[in-house]
Amino acid sequence: MKYYILFGPPGAGKGTHASVVTERFNLKHISTGELLRSEIAAGTELGKHAKTLIDAGSLVPDAVVEGMLESVFNNTTGYDGFLLDGFPRNISQAQDLDKILAARGEKVNAVIGLMISDDTIMARIKKRAAIEGRADDASETTIKHRIDTYHSVTEPLIEYYTNTDNYHQVRVEEPTIEGNQVILRALLDKIA
Ligand code: ADP
Repeated sequence: MKYYILFGPPGAGKGTHASVVTERFNLKHISTGELLRSEIAAGTELGKHAKTLIDAGSLVPDAVVEGMLESVFNNTTGYDGFLLDGFPRNISQAQDLDKILAARGEKVNAVIGLMISDDTIMARIKKRAAIEGRADDASETTIKHRIDTYHSVTEPLIEYYTNTDNYHQVRVEEPTIEGNQVILRALLDKIA
């Protein structure tokens, strides 16, 4: 199985662009944020615990997210691999992922970084708030907290994966989804 990571700050368009990558490589899309929001919607214990953290724009404990991820790894058939979206979010999750994959005789095949400026993050998330109604998109303070968390604990992953030579990055600041898809497809041509 292939393991791809779609990396980038909140609002970069990971969810929007995931299908471009999954269709190209026949991958199962795993968004840890989506999995958590499903748990909240279903009213599970996990969801109840995660909701307060997510609504405040803080990260959920590593073990919680990794448990959900492994469960999808173990229960998926019919794909050539996985596209991880929103995971890993910090260095310890990346190290844990390496261990989880090593135990399966696998490794991360490529990391695709979608980059936008902090101003674009703020603008895009405010626009999304009106459409999707996510509590963590609703307040500027929460968005700022997520941007700070991205820079302090998530961004160091760029160096982590650059060191393993499988990090590929593009800027996706085009005003339209289609425009950014063209940029992303060109990058995938180079990875494939
Ligand atoms: P965005 O990319 O806009 O931040 P996500 O859907 O990826 O949206 O994540 C929403 C929230 O879910 C995060 O702010 C965090 O609270 C939680 N979350 C998602 N993935 C992880 C993860 N890998 N580790 C910890 N928390 C996570």
